[in-house]
This record gives sequence, C-alpha cells and structure tokens, in this order.
Amino acid sequence: MVRAVVGGNWGDEGKGKMTDLLAAGADIVVRFQGGANAGHTIVNEFGKFALHLLPSGVFHRHVTNVIAQGVALHVPTLFDELDHLARRGVPAPNLLVSDRAQLLMPYHVLQDELEEERLGGRAFGSTRSGIAPFYSDKYLKTGIQVADLYNTALLREKIDACCRVKNRLLGSIYSVPGLDADAVYREIISYKDRLEPMVADTARFLNQAVSDGKEILLEGQLGALKDPDNGIYPYTTSSSPLAGFASVGAGIPPGAIQTVITVVKAYSSCVGAGPFVTELFGGEADTLRRRGGDGGEYGATTGRPRRVGWFDAVATRYGCMLQGATAVALTLLDVLGYLEKIPVCVAYKIDGKTVDSFPVTSKLERAEPVYELLDGWQCDIRKVRQYDDLPQSARRYVEFIENQIGYPVTYISNGPGRENITLRLRKGAAD
Ligand code: GDP
Repeated sequence: MVRAVVGGNWGDEGKGKMTDLLAAGADIVVRFQGGANAGHTIVNEFGKFALHLLPSGVFHRHVTNVIAQGVALHVPTLFDELDHLARRGVPAPNLLVSDRAQLLMPYHVLQDELEEERLGGRAFGSTRSGIAPFYSDKYLKTGIQVADLYNTALLREKIDACCRVKNRLLGSIYSVPGLDADAVYREIISYKDRLEPMVADTARFLNQAVSDGKEILLEGQLGALKDPDNGIYPYTTSSSPLAGFASVGAGIPPGAIQTVITVVKAYSSCVGAGPFVTELFGGEADTLRRRGGDGGEYGATTGRPRRVGWFDAVATRYGCMLQGATAVALTLLDVLGYLEKIPVCVAYKIDGKTVDSFPVTSKLERAEPVYELLDGWQCDIRKVRQYDDLPQSARRYVEFIENQIGYPVTYISNGPGRENITLRLRKGAAD
C-alpha cells in the first residue's frame, strides 16, 4: 500500500508528526521533492527534532528512508542531520539516496541570497537555502546528479561549465567576485566517500517494493498552495508539493498511490510573502502565534515568526482538491482552546462579489474574508483520545470544517506528541 502524507495549506501543517506516527506501520518513508528549506518538527521518545532533509521515518529502525530524485540534495545539511541524530542517541537510520538526485551546490545558496537582496522590498521571503536557483539549473539542464560524484572527469567538466556561466552572472548582475571552480570541485568531491554507501537506484528499489506490497509512505514538503503550477505563484516554492508529483519525484507508477492523507491546520499559517486572506495582525496575531504550534509559530528553518490567521475553507478545499485527498488529518486543534468564538472563512469577497473558489493570485490579493463565527470550547483538549470525548463545540468545529471543505476528516491531532491523536472513522475515507 502506498500512502502520501501531504500538506493541504501553505506548509507547516504538522506533516512531520503525522508521518512519524504513521511510519510505525511503514516499511519505507520517501521524500520526493523540495530540499532543506522547510522543517518537519517531530516530538518522540528521543526528544524534539526539526528535520529538514531526512525523511520522518528515521526514528524507526525497521524503516528504510529514501531521498528520491525529486529532492534538492544539500549534502552538508544531510550529514549535519545524521550527525545530530547520532549525538542525540538515535540509532543510525537506514537511508538510501537516489543516484539521480541532484546536488544543491554552494553557488545555489549564494545566488538565492544575492537575488533576495537585489529584490529588496519585492523579495519572495525565500529561506535563502538555494532552492529556486537549484530547480532553475535542473530545468536549464545544468544540474549535477549524485552519480556524477563517481565520475570525476564528468563532474569536473560540469562544474567548470557551470562556474563559467555563473561568473558572468555574478559579475554583471550582482557585482560580486566570481566562483573558484577548483574550490567548488574540492568541496563537492569531499562528499563522495561518506555518501557512497547510501547511493542507490531508488526508483528500482521502490518499484520492487510496490510490487511486493510493502507499506510505503510518501512525505510531502510544504503545502498545496505553494505548488508552482496551481498555487499562489510567484509566491510558491520551486517544486511541486502535490501527491501526484510523488510519482515523478520518486519514479513510481501514479496508480500506485492509493491514499492521500492531506494534513490541514485548524487555523492558518504561512511563511514567506504573498496574499494570505485570513491573516491576522497586532495583538490577535501575537496571541495565536505565541500559542500556536509547539511553543509558538516560528519557522523551523529560519526561526522567523510565521504569519498566522483563521481557518480558510476556500483555500483548504482547493488544497485538498489539488492533493486528491482521500482523508484529512486536522492538526493543532488544541491551539484554539483559548477562544470564546472562532472565526472560519467560508467565502471571499472580491470586487463586491462573493466567491467560494480559490482565484488566481492577482484576484486573491483583492479578496476579503467572509467569516462565520463558531463557538469555542475554552479548555485544554490535549488529553482527549476518543473523538466522542472532545467537547461538543470542538466536534462542531471539526464537523463544520469537514462540511465546508467536502473531504472526510479522519485524524484529529490535539498536541505535538505521537500520543496526541484521535481517530474518527468516516464512511468512504481511505486512509
Ligand atoms: P510540517 O512541516 O508540516 O511537519 O510542520 P512543522 O513541523 O513546521 O510545524 C508544525 C508544528 O506544530 C511543530 O512545532 C509540531 O511539533 C507542532 N504540532 C504538530 N501537530 C500539533 C498539534 O496537534 N498540536 C500542537 N499544539 N502542535 C502540533
């Protein structure tokens, strides 16, 4: 059985927690896109971890973790994360890295930083980890694959060719000194030996696992609204966070993905720039931000305060549709326990018209939220383990959201730990 755990919003929905939880019953956990630009926070018996590149199955000894070819592989981050786990007493994970994955190079990070600085007030709010330049090079066909590390003549040739072009760009657009191709080569080749035991033809491995009926979890990064084709372009990320893309990024048959667990937050948060219709400001935002997540809504990669707002049913319905959700995991419900009334955005007003479908970015920028007010439950629900034991107004909130988005809510997460989960059986849901 192949299951995808993906984001239905703007990212940071708690996918790491859900994957870590579901990994207990999985044989393989796969990252299929993105890079170290987002963090998955996991709280388990080893402590609290923010994983950036490693799949969330690394805490389970029986799981094989795969970094597939769709991922932007920043090898220093990978090694740092492995060292960090070892220091904190986590047994060395089983990890395979696709021989076709491409390397996120030092010049990608540099380009990302320089470009955000050049844009100034018009910057995208990139995490400056080199993701956009990395994917640009991939589609320009100047990327460097992991397999190239083991063909030194080819590697050298590719690095030289890249540096020649980059140096023209760095000089003319950013007026900074050029790259030293020798130094870049020396850095990249230094990854070779440590990486080698992990390198594999992961598409072949995964296709065999699909045929053998193994339990495979595909772990998405960010959320549907950050998809470059369907999201809030250009305030999107540079690779597709959609479950469908797992077929491309991991090289498995599209029909093999049987269930798509779409993780959705009980309120909204967003990092980076771009329209965010239900965004809160001032004291209301500060309170939600402080109470949100596990110790506040601050970026797992950058530490910057996340933008926060009320639940947006228009955006979430669209996000679930893009993901092809077969089940929804509603997370962070406990966070809302301080509110007497909870606004939920059920439609947008754009140029005087009420709409319930998610528009293109230029229209979204003019959208005003239309709210319905729901009763809060005003108590701590973290200890609840059965859906029916939730306060009535918390159940009403869940059921209202389910009706609004039109997808079955089968998991409710009410705290950061593995144990903070209630299950809800829904007819027709595949989870
Ligand atoms: P991801 O990238 O989707 O995995 O999400 P992040 O890790 O960036 O953000 C989710 C944050 O919420 C983390 O700090 C989690 O520990 C925390 N978290 C996850 N689920 C819950 C929940 O149900 N309640 C609370 N309070 N925190 C949660």
